[in-house]
Amino acid sequence: MQTRRNEISRHPLVIRGYVGGRFTDASPTEEIAVIDPATEQRVATLYESSAEEVDRAVIAARTAFDRGPWGRATVAERQKALLAIHDAILAHAEELAFLETINTGIPLSQTRNVHIPRAAYNFRFFAEYINQAGGEVFTQEPGLMSLVTYEPIGVCALIGPWNMPLGLTAMKIAGALAFGNACVVKPSELTPLTVTRLFEIIEGILPEGVMNLVNGRGPVTGTALVSHPGIDMVSFTGGTVTGSAILASLAKGIKGSAMELGGKSANIVFADADFDQALDAALMSSFMNNGQMCLAGSRIFIERKIADRFIEAFSRRVPALKIGDPIQEGTEIGPMINAAQRERMARYAESGLSEGATLLCGGHRFSGLATGYYFEPTAMLAPSNEVAICREEIFGPFAAIQVFDEEDEVIAKANESDFGLVGYVWTQDLQRSMRAASALRTGTVLVNTPIIRDLRTGFGGYKQSGLGREGAKGSQAMFTEMKTTIIARAPRTLPRMGAGA
Ligand code: NAD
Repeated sequence: MQTRRNEISRHPLVIRGYVGGRFTDASPTEEIAVIDPATEQRVATLYESSAEEVDRAVIAARTAFDRGPWGRATVAERQKALLAIHDAILAHAEELAFLETINTGIPLSQTRNVHIPRAAYNFRFFAEYINQAGGEVFTQEPGLMSLVTYEPIGVCALIGPWNMPLGLTAMKIAGALAFGNACVVKPSELTPLTVTRLFEIIEGILPEGVMNLVNGRGPVTGTALVSHPGIDMVSFTGGTVTGSAILASLAKGIKGSAMELGGKSANIVFADADFDQALDAALMSSFMNNGQMCLAGSRIFIERKIADRFIEAFSRRVPALKIGDPIQEGTEIGPMINAAQRERMARYAESGLSEGATLLCGGHRFSGLATGYYFEPTAMLAPSNEVAICREEIFGPFAAIQVFDEEDEVIAKANESDFGLVGYVWTQDLQRSMRAASALRTGTVLVNTPIIRDLRTGFGGYKQSGLGREGAKGSQAMFTEMKTTIIARAPRTLPRMGAGA
């Protein structure tokens, strides 16, 4: 792997768009360096898609949708294509995991065991789902039959973030294609490697123009895409501020959207919880993916009766996390995505201290490696839920711990947030877990389990964590138009307007 990484740093990869069935030329556009956050070396040169290239990509998708075979493909044909994409990802799994790791800094054990298998699974899941997903028929009214059918929405703009580039974007692509749409995909300009490689390894599987790719920065390529009149909807995963800007742009054309945005998820540990499971899960929820997870459960609430023991055990484990080169086996924490993200971590550590929090561990730039945007995994004991480290999404390896006494108190504090993505609850008391599950204002509640996604259910957020849900029915709602057809099964008795009394 090191040899391949050296080769790439000598000959960086080339990232371009893919429009109408072929990669675009490296026309003289803005060149953006794509960086390996562990080595700080260039791994690719991204030739940014201009507004003109975005226009061509949307037209290619529009043409494929309006006139091509995909929108009318049978379930069997769509399943065959989706399963072929699934197989192609698995056939290239090791390479994709490597590319994901050198682009994001996420440890190879995680990209290899979680991200890439999950990217593939999305396609298999939706291939299976569309065989069962039907419409509805209502016949209760004599003489009438009402049909509800779900038709492809058209051209979908699919915009992904940098923290799980292939896995999260694959979710969108699989859902959009499964329901018969064409799409234009835009990965984050920081992490375009695996999504671009996906386009190479699936060449020939889909009809021309069904899946297109544009690459570039949000304010250039992203805005050109979301403001293009030829798109029918945007499925976006990213930050809340960006999501809000995209919604404003979509409002002009009355276009639909699905928004998977930020989080600040509460992780509530009651005194009766399985202590070891809750501890392992709190570490995982705060530090997996280098802490850069929308569903991080890093706003941790511990019941006072076990607080000293829990905080002591947590504070012992965090400094023992293995920080290192993400391509090395055994590394648990890799670098932040870039220097700006590392500085952001340092600012939160300072803001915590200035607002009265106690530093339990970490809090500084990690200096044990010669290169890389590393930051020490950090934990702070917060004086209240009001401080910035408990309010704002930090998006790095940073846990903010609070102590509570009562169930009502902790549920209220968990809900005191602009976000509402996930609520984690640890207790052995079934009725308490049910009370908490219904009281938490979050799109998902996880009881006695850390991070888990079940595609049969919906994933998404309340409040500023988003709009819409991803997964089976949620993706169907996102990527289809619901159509109602009402048919008279017998002549109807109608008022004879204008025919006299
Ligand atoms: P970001 O908002 O900076 O960027 C996301 C994508 O939007 C990138 O592709 C970017 O180029 C593009 N973009 C930026 N400005 C744009 C604009 N004006 N118009 C169109 N596109 C634009 O987010 P990020 O930093 O890449 O990702 C981190 C954020 O994503 C965090 O807030 C995290 O919580 C969130 N996230 C949410 C989920 C979820 O499922 N809810 C999952 C992963 C990440």
